[in-house]
Amino acid sequence: MFEHELNELEKKSQLRWTRIVEMCAGPRVVVDGKSLLLMCSNDYLGLAGHDALKKGAQAALDRYNFGAGASRLISGTSPLHEELETRTARFKGTQAALLFNSGYAANTGIIPALAGSGDTILSDSLNHASIIDGCRLSRARTLVYRHRDANHAESLLKSAAAGRRFIITDGVFSMDGDLAPLPDLVVLAERYDAVLIVDDAHGTGVMGSRGRGSTEHFHLEGRIPVQMGTFSKAFGSFGAFVAGDDDIIHYLINKARSFIFSTALPPAVCGASLAAIDIVEQDDKPKNRVWEARAQLLDGLERLGIAFGNTDSPIIPLVVGSSANANNLASRLFELGVFALAIRPPTVPEGTARIRLTVTALHSRNDIDTVVAAFAVCKQEGYL
Ligand SMILES: *Cc1c(COP(=O)(O)O)cnc(C)c1O
Repeated sequence: MFEHELNELEKKSQLRWTRIVEMCAGPRVVVDGKSLLLMCSNDYLGLAGHDALKKGAQAALDRYNFGAGASRLISGTSPLHEELETRTARFKGTQAALLFNSGYAANTGIIPALAGSGDTILSDSLNHASIIDGCRLSRARTLVYRHRDANHAESLLKSAAAGRRFIITDGVFSMDGDLAPLPDLVVLAERYDAVLIVDDAHGTGVMGSRGRGSTEHFHLEGRIPVQMGTFSKAFGSFGAFVAGDDDIIHYLINKARSFIFSTALPPAVCGASLAAIDIVEQDDKPKNRVWEARAQLLDGLERLGIAFGNTDSPIIPLVVGSSANANNLASRLFELGVFALAIRPPTVPEGTARIRLTVTALHSRNDIDTVVAAFAVCKQEGYL
C-alpha cells in the first residue's frame, strides 16, 4: 500500500526515515556504528544529558511514580505540574503559565482555542508546521504574510473582517535561525487591536541577556500577550508552555482541546524541566558557550567562502537548493564524521533544501575546527 506515493517521494529525494542515534559523551553520537559530531540537535545548552535533569526526574519518579494516570483536569495534576507552571510564569515574567505536552500540542491547542470562524489570523510564511496546523484547526481565515515583512502583514490586516485578529509568528525561525521583527509586530498588533502570539521554541533559554527568549532580546516584556515556548529544545527536557495573563491562561484551561483531552505529562518530565529552569536562571555559562561556538563556526564558514543564511541564533542554514544536493552533502559530511541532516520540502519551501547546522554549549573549539575542516573538504569536492 502507498508504494506509488513512496516511490514518488524517493524520486524527488524527499523520502524520510528514522535513524537510531546512540548518545555518547559530549556532542558525539554513534550512528550506524560510527562516531560523529552531532550538529543537528536542538539541545542548545547541552542540558539533555545534564546530571541535574536526571536527578530532578529521578526524585520525581521516586515520589510520584511514572505515569500521570489521567489528564490535567481529572486527576493528572501533580504538585510538580503546578510548581513548573509557577516557575515558568516567573521565568517569563508573566502572571501565569500553562503546560502542554509538546510544542506541537501547544500550537494546535492554543490557536483554535483563541481564534475561530469569523476571525482573521496573520501568519508568517515560514512559520512552524504546528502553527500552520493550529491555524487550520481554528477555522479562522488565515492570511500568510511574506517572511518577516511587517508591512505586508499590515496591508493584509487592513482587509481583515470584523472578528478578532491575531498575528502569529515564530520568535526564532526553526529552519532559518532568523528572528521575527517583534518590535514592528508589537506596534502593528497594538495599532490594529490584534492579539500577538509568539512561538519561542528556539528562543527560550538562548535569546536575551538572561535566556528568557526573544521577548527579552527585544525588551518587549509585557507587550506580547501570548508567549509559547518549549522545554524540549534548549531546556533539554520535554513539553511546552504558554505564558500570559491570568485570564488568557484560565480561558485556555477551559478551551484548549490538546490540554483538556490528553493525559498529563509524567511528573518526572516536570522534575527535569524544573531542574533545567534552575540551571538557566543560575548559570549563564552554557548560554555564553553556545554563542562563542556559533561565532567560531560562522567565522570558519566565512573563511571558506561558504554562504549561510541570515541567522540571529545558534541555527545556521546552508541552503543548497535541491533535495538531492542536500542529501549528497549530508552523506559526505556523515563520511567525514559530521552528523547534520538534510532539511527538505515540505519542511522548507521547494528549491531551498538545506543543511541546518546547530551549535550547542557542548561543542569545544576543537569540535568546531573539525566541522570546519569537513566543510573545507566538501567545498573542495564541489558539494557546495
Ligand atoms: C520544535 C518546534 C515546535 C514543536 O515543539 P515540540 O515540543 O518538539 O513538539 C513548535 N514550534 C516551533 C517553532 C518549533 O521549532
